[in-house]
Amino acid sequence: RLYNELIELRGNIRVFCRCRPLSSDEVTRGCSSVVEIDSSQETELQFVPSEKERKAFKFDHVFGPEDDQETVFSETVPVVRSVMDGFNVCIFAYGQTGTGKTFTMEGVPENRGVNYRALEELFRMSEERSTSVAYTFSVSILEVYNEKIRDLLDESNDQSKRLDVKKSADGTQEVPGLVEAPVYNIDGVWEKLKFGARNRSVGSTNANELSSRSHCLVRVTVRSEHLVTGQRSRSHMWLVDLAGSERVGKTGVEGDRLKESQFINKSLSALGDVISALASKNSHIPYRNSKLTHLLQSSLGGDCKTLMFIQISPSSTDSGETLCSLNFASRVR
Ligand code: ADP
Ligand code: MG
Repeated sequence: RLYNELIELRGNIRVFCRCRPLSSDEVTRGCSSVVEIDSSQETELQFVPSEKERKAFKFDHVFGPEDDQETVFSETVPVVRSVMDGFNVCIFAYGQTGTGKTFTMEGVPENRGVNYRALEELFRMSEERSTSVAYTFSVSILEVYNEKIRDLLDESNDQSKRLDVKKSADGTQEVPGLVEAPVYNIDGVWEKLKFGARNRSVGSTNANELSSRSHCLVRVTVRSEHLVTGQRSRSHMWLVDLAGSERVGKTGVEGDRLKESQFINKSLSALGDVISALASKNSHIPYRNSKLTHLLQSSLGGDCKTLMFIQISPSSTDSGETLCSLNFASRVR
């Protein structure tokens, strides 16, 4: 039985790689691509930083520059669906700033990403099952910056409000005081997502800059009640746009910027440690080493489903960071 459980656990972590197109600016500057993707090979890419070097990396799925939001979502949807059956789910986008983490998760208004499409799918499934199960959905949006949690749906936007992770009576991790907004349709979700995004930039001179140095988490709570048996369940789906994984240059960085990058390194490596401990079936899972992993404790491990997008740039100018991200992926897979 234990053996079966272990096999199950292994199957609960999926790692996808998504390589964005070269930007027009990179093309103008004459950057070449260091990533080769053979479209007949859905699970492998070749990293070719120079004529003499070539290394293959394996994933559960590889998406290239031509793969659109719909194609990406079609591979993501099984994980999304499992939240409707009572499983907790975490979907992460990891990578250097500018590689498409926000594009994958949030998307752009005319080309929406995983967050919007996932909620759309939940409403569709709820409709489809409405004769046997009553579902309700709510969303919370929060930001983790320098190991502090901020509620992005808090209307009062009270900067002094301190949120923290606490263990609740049923043993799961909760954030007391976090706003949980009920949503009844996809338009309602879109309003909340926009509100959260607006709130995120409050107090920062450069929204884009700040967003690359904090983790943004959307938590969807799914509650269900079976209409015949009366059986109830509650599960969470976390949609996480992580802080940029790039290493800050060692020299010339001090003060706030240094502190920030130390917090980012700490939380991203803590996340890598947790997922790799889960993947290698360690008995000790170090959840408590960062706010991020502590927050997600009840949704990582056990029979929870984890999906990580490793976002990379194809550009020769980014090959150092790309290799770091590919190596991070090898550690969690
Ligand atoms: P990150 O959140 O990792 O910093 P962004 O999502 O902001 O990166 O993406 C950087 C830029 O690249 C944006 O202009 C985005 O629209 C574009 N981009 C990213 N991925 C893709 C893609 N797969 N196809 C087209 N454009 C993309
Ligand atoms: Mg971003």
